[in-house]
Amino acid sequence: MSFVEDARWFTAAPPAAQAGVPGHVTLVGAGPGDPELLTLRAVKALRNARLVLYDHLVGKEVLQYVPADADLIYVGKEAAHHTLPQESIIDLMVRLARSGRSLVRLKGGDCFVFGRGGEEAIALAEQGIAFDIVPGITSAQGAGAYAGIPLTHRDHAGTLVFATGHLCGRDEVALDWAALARPRQTVVIYMGLSTLPIISRELQAHGLPADTPAALVEQTTLPGQRCISGTLGGLPELARAHGIRPPALIVIGHVVALQQHIARGLRAQFV
Ligand code: SAH
Repeated sequence: MSFVEDARWFTAAPPAAQAGVPGHVTLVGAGPGDPELLTLRAVKALRNARLVLYDHLVGKEVLQYVPADADLIYVGKEAAHHTLPQESIIDLMVRLARSGRSLVRLKGGDCFVFGRGGEEAIALAEQGIAFDIVPGITSAQGAGAYAGIPLTHRDHAGTLVFATGHLCGRDEVALDWAALARPRQTVVIYMGLSTLPIISRELQAHGLPADTPAALVEQTTLPGQRCISGTLGGLPELARAHGIRPPALIVIGHVVALQQHIARGLRAQFV
């Protein structure tokens, strides 16, 4: 069942399960795509679900754990194409829970890593709706393991930073470039593909050498995973040349150069 196909979900009063008793919400991180990366708690929540609201980045195979007769609502969210604005998703969750329906809110990766789970949890708490949070493997961890890039390493990176590369306003990425350009650090940038030229330029302008190892990991942990490695300076051109498309992560730092040693021994077909 898709959100758009079933207008019932837009109406003011969704079917009440137990009038007066609010439903329970379980915020679940689905991991980066490979269903084997779901936690046992996530699988349990999905198996028991009667209603699931899921995002664009939830791997299709993850949904196999949802009972066939449960209701599935796609609430989407792709960079430029929001199926439902965030406020409407929150509003829908609150209305469904208030009407007595328990639901699973399923998100790609981890709910609290660029997943807007914080906003949803705050809204639920404010509305007095009980909820649980099930952590998921964030895509940066998936990429590290499935592409053979250790995110930290005693000799190369003692700090790990997750940042978002999404645009704020016209042509602006509001990041602390000086902090990101520090040495002995790994930077993983989410949602940064379209702003990659700005990211590459700014990090170099703030002192990170153009030849710093860097990689793009597309569709990590999924059968279509591609990992393209090169240098910070050359990454925008590599992205273009290889036609890298979202979802993709940018990994910057000397740990990327370790991939060539690790990939040799890595059994996974993804590297
Ligand atoms: N909560 C998610 C992140 C959501 S933001 C998590 O913890 O992973 C969306 C961004 O996550 C995408 O633009 C991309 O940068 C990254 N991403 C999510 N899944 C991915 C995947 N399978 N492969 C590569 N990048 C992914």
